[in-house]
Amino acid sequence: MSRYDLEDADLELLLEGQQRYRVAQLKKALYEDLIDVADLSVFPKALRERIGNAPELASALDPISQQVADRGQTMKWLFRLQDGAAIESVLMHYRKHTTVCISSQAGCAMACSFCATGRSGYTRQLSVGEIVEQVVRAAMAARTSGRRLDHVVFMGMGEPFANFNNVWRAVERITGDMGLGARHVTLSTVGLVPQINQLADKALQVNLAVSLHAANDDLRSELVPINRRYPIGTLVRSLEHYVERTHRRITFEWALIAGVNDSARDVAELASIAFPLKAHVNLIPLNPIDTDDLSSMQGSSPEQVERFAGGLGDLGINTTVRRTRGRSIDAACGQLAGKAAAILKEKP
Ligand code: SAH
Repeated sequence: MSRYDLEDADLELLLEGQQRYRVAQLKKALYEDLIDVADLSVFPKALRERIGNAPELASALDPISQQVADRGQTMKWLFRLQDGAAIESVLMHYRKHTTVCISSQAGCAMACSFCATGRSGYTRQLSVGEIVEQVVRAAMAARTSGRRLDHVVFMGMGEPFANFNNVWRAVERITGDMGLGARHVTLSTVGLVPQINQLADKALQVNLAVSLHAANDDLRSELVPINRRYPIGTLVRSLEHYVERTHRRITFEWALIAGVNDSARDVAELASIAFPLKAHVNLIPLNPIDTDDLSSMQGSSPEQVERFAGGLGDLGINTTVRRTRGRSIDAACGQLAGKAAAILKEKP
């Protein structure tokens, strides 16, 4: 249990016997002012001390390390959870925006072949509080640098749709209690069809990104094994339904791997899926991950990335190339947690 896991009823219980407005004051401190209970000066000292030591109000995340890259514009945290599991989040300042990339699970069970998190295996689901506190800590850090956190992407460790209920309650807290715009929240999935269908029924206008990476079943099943359960045809049908219901533009993510999914044929296959859905395509040159196998995959060359993007553009597909952040600190897409477990083992 931790402070951002508590429902209103739990806060009321914690403050039983106090004036009713104390609950609102505590919520404002936690979600808007982002201050520690110990610094809650509107509370009388005795109450502050009692609350400050309440185990229910403990912090969920213990920052083990903080690394900075891109001249201070990218920051990665490694957090230890109460049970010793490890997760990472990444804060990125852009010219006009500040984004945090958060984890939804410790590890990941999806086992995508090119992703460090997938290779390190699955530990457990994150609680609502563990998800929300990543955003709170990022917002606090942003504030310290004179910036305002305004975007949240569920693109860290884990498959958010495999932890849908907690992720969704966290989204409600982030948009409701913390006041971030739903349109500034992005959920990224390998393509879990039942949860895409669930999202289609939600009123909150969050963004959906789908990690496609291949547009034929043979290749996609190799790169993204869950494709065997939800093959491309099934996935596309659920996306058609989603777009029809929400009228929102989806994004396909495509990590460009040299000689694997960066040919003219891949352009044509991807376009045939993206065009009818009016989807946006986000290209990410594959980031290197530590692997032992000799056949390790390489990112496409900048020329090949340009050619691929140009090919999609010619076919009328709205395409962007993601600028990679934090490679030097293993904070880039797909690099999270490869080393977190190792660090934790060194520091019991
Ligand atoms: N499980 C979710 C959330 C993770 S998002 C999902 O797969 O969508 C992380 C994104 O980075 C995904 O699109 C993932 O496929 C991509 N990715 C993973 N490994 C990568 C790598 N080595 N280089 C570039 N992108 C990678």
